[in-house]
Amino acid sequence: MTKLQEVDIGTQPLERFREFIDPERLDGAIATAARLRDALKGRVVWHVNSTAVGGGVAEMLHVLLPYVRGCGIDARWLVLEGAEDFFVVTKRLHHALHGSVGDGSSLGEDARKIYERVVAENAEDLVARVRPGDVIILHDPQTAGLVPHMVDRGVITFWRCHVGADTRDEQTDLAWDLIGRYLDRAVANIFTRNQYIPDCCDHGRSVIIPPSIDPFAPKNQPLDDNVVRSILAATGIIADPPGDAEPSFRREDGSPGRVERQSVVDRHGAPPSWDNRLVVQVSRWDPLKDPVGVVRGFAEYLKSNASDVDTHLVLAGPDVKAIPDDIEQAQVYHDTSAAVKELPDGIRRRIHLACLPMEDLQENAAIVNALQTHASVVVQKSLREGFGLTVTEAMWKSRPVLASAVGGILDQIEDRVDGLLIKDATNPVEFASLLAILLQDEDRAAKMGAAARKRVSENYLGIHSLFAYAALIERFGE
Ligand code: UDP
Repeated sequence: MTKLQEVDIGTQPLERFREFIDPERLDGAIATAARLRDALKGRVVWHVNSTAVGGGVAEMLHVLLPYVRGCGIDARWLVLEGAEDFFVVTKRLHHALHGSVGDGSSLGEDARKIYERVVAENAEDLVARVRPGDVIILHDPQTAGLVPHMVDRGVITFWRCHVGADTRDEQTDLAWDLIGRYLDRAVANIFTRNQYIPDCCDHGRSVIIPPSIDPFAPKNQPLDDNVVRSILAATGIIADPPGDAEPSFRREDGSPGRVERQSVVDRHGAPPSWDNRLVVQVSRWDPLKDPVGVVRGFAEYLKSNASDVDTHLVLAGPDVKAIPDDIEQAQVYHDTSAAVKELPDGIRRRIHLACLPMEDLQENAAIVNALQTHASVVVQKSLREGFGLTVTEAMWKSRPVLASAVGGILDQIEDRVDGLLIKDATNPVEFASLLAILLQDEDRAAKMGAAARKRVSENYLGIHSLFAYAALIERFGE
């Protein structure tokens, strides 16, 4: 029989957030959690997804569930099992929900049969574990088919969708056609943005919970300037000498970590020094992140601001050699490098393409943290974006952010208050003139950075997600 795997969950106290958020909000969240714990009377809150490691959902569950257990609520996490044919279908579904064709395989009746067979096998084990009155939160397309099984068992069932597309098209219709039929009986469906709610879930029982970041993770923990400097020098993004501190950070499990590995930096001059200002974009080498557009926009900025002699651009992403099966990223990296080569020498010397080491993802995260912390401006010039985590990460570090007015970024940034939005993401002149505002008016940039930090501390930390889930279970969980 197919067996779901149970993932171990530690415990963490919500009190940990006290240094980061308004104390009244924290007390409110603690009170809500206590109320929920009492109302649940020992009933279990289950989460089911399709992997224990890798990917945003697994990362989020690893971060958030220990707090739920820390509140005395019996949270458990199960991972479903499936053979390769199942994951081919669900990967295809994932792409289709984004509006893209993926590997182009069918989402027709054959795919449905594979999907329903594996779901039914998992349901058998799951039904034996849960009890009527328990609460279950099923994550993403892989688990949608479990909804009717859980409802029939008397479990209070939510389905959480972490993906979506702003507009409907043939692909999204195909995907919703396959999984939409299972969702109607969930007490509520949860989406990242309003625009992502498909017609089949537009029945007044869909709610929005945006993604959150973990302020204690290597990616977002506070780093002293000296440490930032040492990390950036140790990995070769800026010139030596390093700061007075060690290039150190705190790992997820609390143990000390150290940045040792070099980034591979494609550049045509000397590394920037600590005193140079950096414009930074961190993202996968993906055409939709438009790294070539960032290069052209930055070149446009330098051309029209000849008096700026100290600002450099760093485009950072994963080391493409570490992801050999991802040919597209290698191609985009290559195209970006070629776009830099075409520029006049004085400009290209100030552009650095950094491939960050991927052997140790926490080390990689610490480098991202140092870059975002040190940046004078963080840009995210995406052509399309679900919810731009890099935007929230930079805002958390009080950075002024310049980002395209697309997708979830429209929810994340209030234009001219806590960042600047590029109306036409394909226009390098607009990019250049908005960048000039942030680089030349440092007071204004600092004010936006402070507002950005406030926005994140009020809306986008893990505790806000927990609070939103707790409120949802209280509201629907009778
Ligand atoms: N990221 C990283 N190392 C890299 C490049 C990106 O850790 O070399 C992280 C980045 O900090 C962010 C995530 O990958 O947390 C990307 O999320 P985002 O929502 O910005 O874009 P996605 O890649 O999901 O489209």
